Amino acid sequence: MLKKKEKEAEFVYKKVPVSPDEIDIFKPTKERVLVKSNSFEMAKNQIDIVAEKMGLNENITKYLKKVERSLIVSIPIKMDDGNLEIFEGYRVHHSTVRGPGKGGLRFAPNVNLNEIKALATWMTWKCSLLNLPLGGAKGGICVDPTKLSKGELERLTRRYTAEIINIIGPDIDIPAPDINTNAQIMAWIMDTYSMNKGRAVPGVVTGKPIEIGGSVGRESATGMGLFYILEALCKKLNLNLKSSRVVIQGFGNVGGTIADILYEKGVKIIAISDIKGGLHAKEGLNVKELLKWRNKFRFLKEFNKNNYKFISNEDLLTLDCDILIPAAIENQITHSNANNLNCKIILEGANGPTTPEADEILNEKGVIIVPDILANGGGVCVSYFEYIQDIHSYFWTLDRINQELKKILVTTFDNVYYLSKEKNVSLRIAAYMIAISRLAKAIELRGIFP
Ligand code: NAD
Repeated sequence: MLKKKEKEAEFVYKKVPVSPDEIDIFKPTKERVLVKSNSFEMAKNQIDIVAEKMGLNENITKYLKKVERSLIVSIPIKMDDGNLEIFEGYRVHHSTVRGPGKGGLRFAPNVNLNEIKALATWMTWKCSLLNLPLGGAKGGICVDPTKLSKGELERLTRRYTAEIINIIGPDIDIPAPDINTNAQIMAWIMDTYSMNKGRAVPGVVTGKPIEIGGSVGRESATGMGLFYILEALCKKLNLNLKSSRVVIQGFGNVGGTIADILYEKGVKIIAISDIKGGLHAKEGLNVKELLKWRNKFRFLKEFNKNNYKFISNEDLLTLDCDILIPAAIENQITHSNANNLNCKIILEGANGPTTPEADEILNEKGVIIVPDILANGGGVCVSYFEYIQDIHSYFWTLDRINQELKKILVTTFDNVYYLSKEKNVSLRIAAYMIAISRLAKAIELRGIFP
């Protein structure tokens, strides 16, 4: 039996982030605010770069740089102390040309419309690249969930769902977990939506608990996908993964899962971090021990082991290693630290961790970057499998999930790799070329209404 304090810590870990007052990273330094508010500019800049290389029709480029719809909602919540608090939430559809919108929902104190628009745009590219019949969407609530009780969190989730109910649904837009949201939050969304429709509608969200229509393998899908892609890349490069040294930023769902998988394969993880900072040990960290610690106490900072050194997230990114896996948030690798990175491969677990300026610097340095829309595509793939299983009310085994996942990811990786060689462009540009040309073709075929 876990002690009461450990139980509370475990619940908190599973649901939420850290209070912004606790950590410097949320403090609005000039640069961070600038970078944060520019996420959508960064996404549009990426479209311009690729459009130029592809010779894309100007009208299509103009079209792709706009989101289809953005909904901003006020979410009034009766707090436990009787006061009323009003939060702001967003749901954005970047494109539903190829199918219903798909994308996560994040709860964080710094969430803003620009960030959500960028994340929705990246979801469009990801679904198109993986050739899933889905579009790109994203949502968020500007809230520090650590400051909410479980009841307040549930009321917030349900009221947000009610506010966006007209633009979500299995045929319209299907939310999923992202930073600081989890299966329980998906269950509340599914229940609120179903109560409004008068019947159970499991297909309105993915990443739900298995008991109400979730899929086996969804929780570990993004990390599993990162592994399949890394394995495929190592094969191409003739690189021995087992003798590689890996650094991971972020120890949540994505970072924790890939750390666990690599550790089990005998790969040396020399550093790993969460929002407060990281642990570093040249001879490798014991990931199993750290996962147990995280599930009980949440942060790595207090973990004590003589040969483990506590370091900042900034220092972690510049450690000498073979493979760096940013798996926390966007805009971590920028023009100001790109020159100091000491890795051969960057495998983007997070969405948008590298700015276009940093991308250019790293390409010149010869660092191989596996872009987010390819590297972390495992999550949306298994979300798609969950959606199909819900529609058919027929559920697959974990073996089948992982087999189908591997097939989609490795095929996509091969296509991106060959195109990058053929056109002599980076993996990111090649991935974008495939994603954008597939979407452009769909736009052309459907035509512009009216
Ligand atoms: P999570 O909330 O489970 O974990 C996030 C981790 O990052 C935590 O360890 C947290 O402490 C750390 N972190 C947060 N802010 C940080 C900061 N400013 N500096 C350093 N570390 C910080 O979230 P997750 O689901 O693992 O998502 C991580 C990233 O992966 C996000 O960019 C998300 O959009 C992306 N992603 C997630 C999935 C998925 O299936 N969960 C799929 C594709 C992409």
